[in-house]
Amino acid sequence: MNLIFLGAPGSGKGTQAATLVQDFGLAHVSTGDMLRAAVANQTPLGLEAHGYMSAGKLVPDSVVIGIIEERLNTPECAHGVLLDGFPRTVPQAIALSEMMKRMGKTLDRVIYLEVGEEELFQRLSGRGRADDTPETVRSRLKVYQDQTSPLIAHYASEGLLARIEGVGSVEDIGARIRAALKA
Ligand code: AMP
Repeated sequence: MNLIFLGAPGSGKGTQAATLVQDFGLAHVSTGDMLRAAVANQTPLGLEAHGYMSAGKLVPDSVVIGIIEERLNTPECAHGVLLDGFPRTVPQAIALSEMMKRMGKTLDRVIYLEVGEEELFQRLSGRGRADDTPETVRSRLKVYQDQTSPLIAHYASEGLLARIEGVGSVEDIGARIRAALKA
């Protein structure tokens, strides 16, 4: 099973992904985690990505598409993946679809965690991550609106979208996701 988690920053993708990958035996592929590791290790990728991340902007498509392709080709991803934070733009979604076709993989479902803007701002402001300053938070929410939210209609038109209300307890939201995957 290959899944995408779609949702704004602060929608709870990472939290839900953590238990879902365990229950379903999927590889957790988070571009945010991969990029933060690259920044911490000061690799060439990290040095390139750092400025974009600390400004709350997206790292260029070509860069993230490259790291995803490399990762999806590893044996760890053979039994299914949960993509968390990728794709974030329509060109990324198109590139993903093409690379999966080449690899003989299919995309089974896109789980969209729906959370209102006010709630997102509250959650992100209290998280304490390096890229969670008020300015950066505002920029990341705007980038999400402008560049990522078009993916909701994109995947709905492909019949892959499962809309999940992302407000409530972690357990309740997890139960909604599992129910949607069974449907
Ligand atoms: P995240 O942990 O998913 O919120 O990602 C943290 C930051 O990493 C984002 O604000 C972007 O700067 C960068 N990033 C993560 N995933 C992507 C992606 N798919 N495309 C572009 N930039 C990304």
